[in-house]
Amino acid sequence: MEVVIIGTGYVGLVSGACFSEMGNSVTCVDIDKEKILNLKNGIIPIYEPGLTQMVKKNIKNRNLSFTTDLSSVIKKAEIVFIAVGTPMDEDGSADLQYVLKVASSIGQTMKHKLIVVNKSTVPVGTADKVKTYIKKELYNRNVTIDFDVVSNPEFLKEGDAINDFMKPDRIVIGASSEAIFNKMKQLYSPFFRTHDRFITMDLRSAEMTKYAANAMLATKISFMNEIANICENVGADANKVRLGIGSDKRIGYSFIYPGVGYGGSCFPKDVKALKKIAEDYGYEAKLIGSVEEVNNSQKLVISKKIIAKFGENLKGLTFGLWGLSYKPGTDDMREAPSIYTIKELVKRGAVVRVYDPKAAENAKDYYLKGIKNIIYCTSKYQVLKDSNALILLTEWKEFRSPDFEEIKKQLKSPIIFDGRNQYNAFYLDEMGFEYHQIGKK
Ligand code: NAD
Repeated sequence: MEVVIIGTGYVGLVSGACFSEMGNSVTCVDIDKEKILNLKNGIIPIYEPGLTQMVKKNIKNRNLSFTTDLSSVIKKAEIVFIAVGTPMDEDGSADLQYVLKVASSIGQTMKHKLIVVNKSTVPVGTADKVKTYIKKELYNRNVTIDFDVVSNPEFLKEGDAINDFMKPDRIVIGASSEAIFNKMKQLYSPFFRTHDRFITMDLRSAEMTKYAANAMLATKISFMNEIANICENVGADANKVRLGIGSDKRIGYSFIYPGVGYGGSCFPKDVKALKKIAEDYGYEAKLIGSVEEVNNSQKLVISKKIIAKFGENLKGLTFGLWGLSYKPGTDDMREAPSIYTIKELVKRGAVVRVYDPKAAENAKDYYLKGIKNIIYCTSKYQVLKDSNALILLTEWKEFRSPDFEEIKKQLKSPIIFDGRNQYNAFYLDEMGFEYHQIGKK
């Protein structure tokens, strides 16, 4: 199939690479000229395991190409995906300006019947808006061209995006006709050969499904963090409680690790947007609001523990910090708990020595740009030099089983603040470490 994807970020690029891997002819479009130039030369703007190889292979096979010029590629397209960002607006709602700009561009350039698929995460009712924006441009051009709008929310996880796309749990399609469902099934069927994973529904339910899924996962995280905070107060161990409740199949083990709160490009903005969507329809989503509140304070849980230990004034103290990205396997720093922790420590006079296997450039150039008293290190042991304690925020594999003798030797005092409960408390205690974790005093 001839596929055009507009927006070549995490979702657009991964989708484009995977569709091309299945033999479709895919063109990825973006307004970012430098990004497109780099991609044409096989330079991938994000870190995502397996993506570079897949992109390079399909450029070589001529299944995948990149352009900034939509009008030059839309004429051969059968399906056009919208995969641009929907960042958080000032009032918490999803900012639809990029999606609607793309809808207008499609209306201005389309030449024949098209299926327009919205993959961006958008509030209920956006498909209708996209339709209106395309129609308006067709009207301005004084032409009549038939088109359909489809909602196809994306569920991939950064850090495992290729796997998620190639072997999806489900493909959700919101559309208004059998013919469209069949066309979309034709595109997606190579991704679910063992059994049908195709779920069809109306447009509004498909748009809502994405928010409901993210809100559910965020709720699990905030719920467990709240339980962890109660555990600390009552003298229970959240690690044990996690095992105790996870063994119930109705609850399950996933997404119930106590930690430093959720971050990333999706959960924070989608939880906020869902609350706002409900509000716009006159409903107060109390639970969703609390999920966000719990998360906001959980992002500061490690800095609070540090303040409890060292006092409000951290001048003269140095902390070594492992992990900047909001989760392992990605260089994405959007809404990462590390940003909040580091700012809090630096604000109180501390120096923070940091190391992350992939996200340091993003931190230095953007998310923590210009903040003094952050020292970027090139290895995990380098951060320990002159440090009064070690902080772990992202559970990259290389932090899972470190050399604790080396850590103890290098740190000024053997103290670890673990935001991911990665280590064996008994073993660390035996070694003489003071070990602070989440959900256990
Ligand atoms: P992103 O910011 O990484 O990429 C968006 C891209 O769109 C950028 O490259 C930008 O230059 C481009 N763009 C903006 N306006 C454009 C235009 N008019 N024409 C062409 N390109 C344009 O965003 P992302 O993380 O890929 O997210 C895209 C959407 O998918 C969002 O709605 C997001 O909520 C949703 N989503 C993201 C993830 C994720 O893990 N990142 C997962 C599921 C869903």
